[in-house]
Amino acid sequence: MALLIKNGTVVNDDLMIKADVLVLDGKIIMVEENLVVPENLSKDYQIYDATDRLVIPGGIDPHTHMQLPFMGEVAVDDFYAGTRAALAGGTTMIIDFVIPPKTSSLLEAYKQWRDWADPKVCCDYALSMAVTTWNEQISEEMKIVTEPSFGINSFKFFLAYKNVFMVTDEEFFQGLKRCAQIGALGRVHAENGSVIAEKQKELLEMGITGPEGHTQSRPEELEAEATNRACTLASQANCPLYVVHVMSKGAAKVIAEHRQNGAIVFGEPIAAGLGCDGTHYYSKDWMHAAAHILSPPLSRDPTTPSTLMDLLACGQLHLTATDNCTFTCSQKKLGLNDFTKIPNGVNGVEDRMSVVWEKGVHSGKIDPMKFVSITSTTAARIFNCYPRKGRIAVGSDADIVIWNPSATRTISAQTHHHANDFNIFEGMIVHGVPEITISRGKVVWEYGELNVEAGNGKFISLPPFCNYVFSAIPARARKMQPISVDRSNI
Ligand SMILES: [Zn+2]
Repeated sequence: MALLIKNGTVVNDDLMIKADVLVLDGKIIMVEENLVVPENLSKDYQIYDATDRLVIPGGIDPHTHMQLPFMGEVAVDDFYAGTRAALAGGTTMIIDFVIPPKTSSLLEAYKQWRDWADPKVCCDYALSMAVTTWNEQISEEMKIVTEPSFGINSFKFFLAYKNVFMVTDEEFFQGLKRCAQIGALGRVHAENGSVIAEKQKELLEMGITGPEGHTQSRPEELEAEATNRACTLASQANCPLYVVHVMSKGAAKVIAEHRQNGAIVFGEPIAAGLGCDGTHYYSKDWMHAAAHILSPPLSRDPTTPSTLMDLLACGQLHLTATDNCTFTCSQKKLGLNDFTKIPNGVNGVEDRMSVVWEKGVHSGKIDPMKFVSITSTTAARIFNCYPRKGRIAVGSDADIVIWNPSATRTISAQTHHHANDFNIFEGMIVHGVPEITISRGKVVWEYGELNVEAGNGKFISLPPFCNYVFSAIPARARKMQPISVDRSNI
């Protein structure tokens, strides 16, 4: 069945035009003003009226952790609940992370994640992969998983979570050099995990066991320091770098400085950091405070969320994600007597689009084209699936949202589609509502009703050597060739 979206304003990252959009067999086949449906389709199509609505590319969330086993628990949004929530919020593709334990091979872990995801996903998804230790086998397997049948083109390194996922600087540097060789983007969780571990001990010894200890054990300087280190090492390895969850002004400033010095580095703030600040950690209500725990923590500076949006607006930060990794209140209680045991993670995949619209477009900081850029197109470009994803154009996948810019909704755990029982944006009134979400040509969310099927999403294989990321690297490599001095004549 074909779909015709009439009378809307099509928004891409570089243009806004009045146009109708025709969809057939999961693809966009025509985009035109006053579109006339071709004769052969004229009997069998469904019309959606998008008068006073925007017709935008479905959101791409490049950073989620569905059903992640972490800190003794498993994130409760699995690939089914999590991708349903995504679609309800106007996001039609996620990039999740395979995170192999230090003892696991990358290939085993990859298989595990595909087995978890493929039967459950309701929207398209791709995978990024973490490297949590270093040896010859890992180095070999990194190359293998960039082949088309595996489809990985980015690797994430943790500079935090000591003894769990954290890598040393040496391992990180080896990994970045390998990424550069095989055309994969390096991604980094930038915090100083060793110093955090020391601070955690200090605070617990002082009797500070509540969630306020979480933020105090992770001062923003430790995020900025690790971000600086990561950018420096990536430049030395001649590897493009992507900093996940930029949570503080200091880290954002470091990224801007490295870019000014020529580094290829991308900065990703997340919905939580754009919508909330760290004052919640001092709430007298333990559960409320614990529910906001993620790492790096929400900024203690209440002006940070607005500054992060300013930096997206001016291009010093580049795209938005969520780090969606949800735990229920009872799971969070694992750390009732010790903040270091509270499972880290918050929601975001459902509300990101609306939070970014509210804080960005409704506030007047960005226009709808920039909104599309930072919620969809830039992710598609960086991860090498553009213009198949991230654009309303002939030939692109029909991942489309009919967006009502003037409608409002109130975010609440009572009405959200996540599997957990807390929403960090509770009570926030947001302008910008996804009225209809279309995933590969199928209407999956329509005026508050989901119509999804587990396993209907497809795995998107992401090729390495993305031109958007890697085109300058060979010339830089030539410039970086070590110099040898010939002294044979002396
Ligand atoms: Zn994450």
